[in-house]
Amino acid sequence: MREEYDVVVVGAGPGGSTAARTAAEECDVLLIEKRQEIGSPVRCAEGVLKSPFLEFAHPDKKWISSYIRGYRIFAPDGTMLEISAEALGIEGELAYILERKIFDSELAKDAARVGADVMVHTRATGLIAEDGLVKGVKINRLGEDLEVRSKVVIGADGVESQIGRWAGINSALKLKDVGTAAQYLMADIDVVEDFCEIYVGSRAPGGYAWVFPKGEKLANVGIGMLTSMISGSRPIDYLNNFVSQQFPEGQQLGLIMGSCPCSDELKTTICNGLMLVGDAAHHCDPLSGSGIISAMEGGKIAGNVARKAVQQRDSSVRVLKEYENKRHRALFGKLQHHNYKIKELMVTLSDNELNKLIQTFKGVKPQEMSFAGLAKRLVVVNPKVLLIMYNLAHLKELTDVLLKDN
Ligand SMILES: Cc1cc2nc3c(=O)[nH]c(=O)nc-3n(C[C@H](O)[C@H](O)[C@H](O)COP(=O)(O)OP(=O)(O)OC[C@H]3O[C@@H](n4cnc5c(N)ncnc54)[C@H](O)[C@@H]3O)c2cc1C
Repeated sequence: MREEYDVVVVGAGPGGSTAARTAAEECDVLLIEKRQEIGSPVRCAEGVLKSPFLEFAHPDKKWISSYIRGYRIFAPDGTMLEISAEALGIEGELAYILERKIFDSELAKDAARVGADVMVHTRATGLIAEDGLVKGVKINRLGEDLEVRSKVVIGADGVESQIGRWAGINSALKLKDVGTAAQYLMADIDVVEDFCEIYVGSRAPGGYAWVFPKGEKLANVGIGMLTSMISGSRPIDYLNNFVSQQFPEGQQLGLIMGSCPCSDELKTTICNGLMLVGDAAHHCDPLSGSGIISAMEGGKIAGNVARKAVQQRDSSVRVLKEYENKRHRALFGKLQHHNYKIKELMVTLSDNELNKLIQTFKGVKPQEMSFAGLAKRLVVVNPKVLLIMYNLAHLKELTDVLLKDN
């Protein structure tokens, strides 16, 4: 390991590895990861929508465990809304369930192939700051304290990020904007292998339960809920309850717990010499808790902006501002603020209101989805549900891009 690089990236998740790979095409890059193995342990349900994902990766059977034709969303009363590739006019699958342990490691390998130095068991412990500019990272590598200087630091250290805080960026999440989850990898269960299932309502307050198939009789079965809505029972208690109802005979091969940001955009994700990417920048969909693709999207933009800063020998916010601007205009940037508004409304719905919402959508063809069309179908007009429908109908314009067939 050298004492100086153009760019140091902290955290080898999808955001960090994508940033490192992009920057390494022109710059000297160091990618550090505190864990001893990249991608492990997995704290994720591993679902990604195909179309936006293809912008950042070429699907490989090595790290895809399931090809998903659609989603089935279940209301508390059991009403099922199906969204399938077929109904949307999309050829083939709509989504993938990844094998993240392999996927994350492959992304880091890609960064290494392009020339980045990759180091595991190497933890960032602080930042080097001089004259109002971040100039590198303090690290602990295998017990030894070291300093690595750089022109740009990219903080991709996940939901528990400290890089932002060290740089003086207020990246604290409110409890109402943190999703907390528990998930079993379950075997010997009856699952539809090419559909993801989502269960909403009071069985997962302020969130949802999911069954994401990972092959024959195997699935990620989890529950995520807003931390502010946890009172008494924890996500694992809700999950055990869900599992005992849905899969009483199933076997548990693994249990993970984790959290993700479910917030609006972080006001500032840069300072002189530093950019935050992925969960560290709160770039996670507040409605679904999905953050893999948006971390890669941000990582790619940040990697390109880092290259520019190095070329121009200027890593002040004047140059790094392009990262925020481009990310804001990018697909997941546009979706985030919108989805946050929908999330804030959705969490206030009772089981009864959720039943009505899902009943309203059931049977609506995607091409017919407009606010006026949906409003007409709503028998009992509930202002909250109407407002959500208004936002969802607008969201459709954005998701048309998201779901377009590549
Ligand atoms: C239960 C659960 C289910 C989820 N399911 C989905 C899903 O189905 N689809 C989806 O798109 N998203 C899902 N997410 C969210 C998704 O996992 C994250 O949004 C995504 O991993 C963010 O990528 P990232 O690169 O920003 O951060 P991460 O993937 O969290 O990577 C950050 C990396 O930084 C490392 N690190 C942290 N601190 C330091 C340090 N000081 N020094 C060095 N390294 C450090 C960490 O070890 C980690 O490897 C889920 C999250 C949870 C908790």
